[in-house]
Amino acid sequence: MRRTLRAFVVSQGEELLTGQTVDTNSNFLCGALTDLGFRVVGGATAPDRDDAIAQTLRNAAERADVVICTGGLGPTADDLTANAAAAAFGREVELNREALAQVEARYASAGRQMAPANRRQALLPAGCEVLPNVRGTAPGFALRTEAGARLYFLPGVPPEMKAMWRDVVLPRLREELTLSPPRRHLFRVLGRGESQLQDLLGDVPDAFGGVELGFRTRMPENQVKLVAEPSIDEVAWCGAIAEVRERLGRDLFSEDEGVGLAGRVGELLVERGHRLALAESCTGGWIAHLCVSEPGSSRWLERGFVTYSNASKVAELGVSQATLDELGAVAEPVATEMAEGCRRVAGADWGVGVTGIAGPTGGTPDKPVGTVCVAVAGPAGTRVKTLRLPARDRTTVRRFSAHIALDMLRRQLLRT
Ligand code: AMP
Ligand code: MG
Repeated sequence: MRRTLRAFVVSQGEELLTGQTVDTNSNFLCGALTDLGFRVVGGATAPDRDDAIAQTLRNAAERADVVICTGGLGPTADDLTANAAAAAFGREVELNREALAQVEARYASAGRQMAPANRRQALLPAGCEVLPNVRGTAPGFALRTEAGARLYFLPGVPPEMKAMWRDVVLPRLREELTLSPPRRHLFRVLGRGESQLQDLLGDVPDAFGGVELGFRTRMPENQVKLVAEPSIDEVAWCGAIAEVRERLGRDLFSEDEGVGLAGRVGELLVERGHRLALAESCTGGWIAHLCVSEPGSSRWLERGFVTYSNASKVAELGVSQATLDELGAVAEPVATEMAEGCRRVAGADWGVGVTGIAGPTGGTPDKPVGTVCVAVAGPAGTRVKTLRLPARDRTTVRRFSAHIALDMLRRQLLRT
C-alpha cells in the first residue's frame, strides 16, 4: 500500500545551540523534503559531542526512512559527525580512498597545498558511500542502517549543503524511492482566531477517519490545513474538505497558497467588472501596496490617495471641515466621507477609507492606540466600523488595519 515516507533532519554544531548561528539548513531541508513528498517527522540539533550526535542519529534513524544530517564534516577537532555516525551504527572509521582523492583533487585544482588536517575529512565510516562536494572540500557520505534507513551527511556551510542536496541527494531519492506525498488541503481564514477555529473544527478528524488538522497563524490571517495519508478513502477526504469549507463560510477567503487576500479581492472585482479606489490615512498606502503586489492589478485598481493631513482629506476627497472639527480625524463619519470621496473623485465602483491611531503616541482614553475606523463604499451604499486592535506598535496596527479593510471589502463584494 502507498505510504508517505518519513524524513528526519539533524543539524550539528555548538554554534547552533548557543544562538550564534541560525539553523537555516534545517529550515531549507524541511521545506525541500516536504516539497519532494516526505513527511518530516522530526528534527534535532546535536552539540559538538560524539555521544550526543550518535544518540541523535540513532533516534532519527529509528523514526524515519530518510535522515539528512548537516554539519561537522570539516577538518577541525569539533567536526565529529563521521566518528559519531560510525559509533551510532557499529562501524569502524577508516581512511576512505575515494574521499581522500576528492579532497586532494580539490586542493590540486585550486593550486594549493593540502593541510595535514584535511586528511580528517577522509576518515569516514566503513562501508559508506562518498558523496561529491563540488563547492567545498568536505565530502559528504551516505549510509544505510541494517533496518533500511538511509542517512545522508552533508556539509554545514549552507551553499555547499544546498548544492550537494540539489545535485546529489535529491536526484537519488527521486530515483531510488517511490514517493507518495501526503494529501494536503489549505484553508485561509480571516475573522476567526485559532481557538475559535479549534472549537469549530476540532471534531473533524474524528468524523472523517484518517484526517489530521493543522493550524498556522500569520496574523491577522489564520490557516487551517487538512493532512492525510495518500491511501485515504476518497469519500472521507472530499467529505472532510467540504465539511471544513461549509463550516468556515465567508471567513474562508482562499484555498490556494498563491492567492492571498488582495488577490482574492482582485478576482471578485474582475468577475464583476468593478474598479477600486483607496483613501488611506494611518495605513499610509499599505492597502495600495497589497493591491499593487498582485499581478494584473491594473485591471481593478483605479487609484489610491494617501491623505494624511486634515487639509488633504478636505482638498482631495471632499471630507467636510465641520466633521473634522467636531469629531477629529479618527471617527466613523470621517472614514465614511473618505471612502465615498475617493469613490466619487476616482469614478470607481468601490471606495475604501481608513483613518486611525497607529501609535505608539496619540491615543486618548476614548480613542486609544489601535482605534481604527474603516469604511467601504460601494454600489449599494456604505458600511463603516471601528476596530479596537489589541496591538500597540505602529507597524502591527497599520498592517492589521490594511488587511481588515480589504477583508471588509471582500465581504461586501460577496454580497453584490
Ligand atoms: P561545519 O560543517 O559544522 O564545520 O559548519 C561550517 C559552517 O556552516 C558553520 O560554521 C556555520 O557557519 C555553518 N552552518 C553549520 N550548520 C549550519 C546550519 N544548520 N544552518 C546554517 N549554517 C550552518
Ligand atoms: Mg561544526
